[in-house]
Amino acid sequence: MSARMIDGKELARKMREALRAKVETMKEAGNLPGLAVIIVGEDPASRVYVRNKEKASIDAGIHSEVISFPADATEAEVLAKIHELNRDEDIHGILVQLPLPKHFDARRVLDEIAEEKDVDGFHPGNVGALFLGQPKLQPCTPHGVMKMLEAENVPIRGKNAVIVGASNIVGKPMAIMLLHKGATVTICNSKTPDLGHHTRDADILVVAVGRAGIVTGDMVKEGAVVIDVGMNRLENGKLAGDVDYEGASQKASLITPVPGGVGPMTIAMLLENTVEAAERKAGVEKTV
Ligand code: NAP
Repeated sequence: MSARMIDGKELARKMREALRAKVETMKEAGNLPGLAVIIVGEDPASRVYVRNKEKASIDAGIHSEVISFPADATEAEVLAKIHELNRDEDIHGILVQLPLPKHFDARRVLDEIAEEKDVDGFHPGNVGALFLGQPKLQPCTPHGVMKMLEAENVPIRGKNAVIVGASNIVGKPMAIMLLHKGATVTICNSKTPDLGHHTRDADILVVAVGRAGIVTGDMVKEGAVVIDVGMNRLENGKLAGDVDYEGASQKASLITPVPGGVGPMTIAMLLENTVEAAERKAGVEKTV
């Protein structure tokens, strides 16, 4: 089998276009959504991510603020800014770009973001709501993956879903979302002795580890749907996923590329969460 590529870039473009029209209407009604992104330090990759998020939100017509702190900023300074943004009527979404410098307690910082403005979906309240099957603001990357599966009409109920990677921001919420749609879910982590044993059983395989080529073609089931969340910078400067795309394409029915797969969907979902947070504040039923 030769897989068809899922074009995340195009799907994200359509979603952003729909959001732009919605934001325009909200603006006319006096409910312009606002997003604030906090970045601490000079990590080049983080700077690029923040710039992309800012560009995408401006493009969608969303009010956008980027607040930059030097790498030696104190946690108290950043927390003071978060508290200020929590009270800011023009801001509906607050995001702290990770990773934070080593002297920060990232969990404590994230927990201070008001739950209703937590557009990354990392606050314990939002995590708990997702866990209980009553999601509010959902983590952008796994939510974007679910939108892709939905757009491609991928059957989930009764299927075997295998998630490689168990982080709080991708692997774990991904597993919960698939579980709630009726999949039988396996989550693998760094201690899993024989990864291939599990991945070869996957009708839906989601890989989020951060190691280029960790999943090869022989680890993929014939006809599987393969979602590659990984983003790795190779020595030649190119971006690569966690899956050997060429090898896996020989077996899969559908596969996401890197770049142009999950990445653009993550940003689209961030914008969608910001609009949703603004709608909730204005008392409008969720429509996105
Ligand atoms: P992370 O926090 O470092 O978590 C990595 C996970 O992979 C951990 O659960 C770890 O297991 C597991 N792991 C490590 N080695 C493994 C192995 N040999 N076999 C199976 N599991 C293994 O990473 P993350 O934040 O989830 O990100 C993962 C990747 O996705 C990275 O490349 C990141 O850049 C990318 N990403 C992309 C997007 C996007 O929008 N496209 C968004 C977020 C992240 P333990 O739990 O045992 O340590």
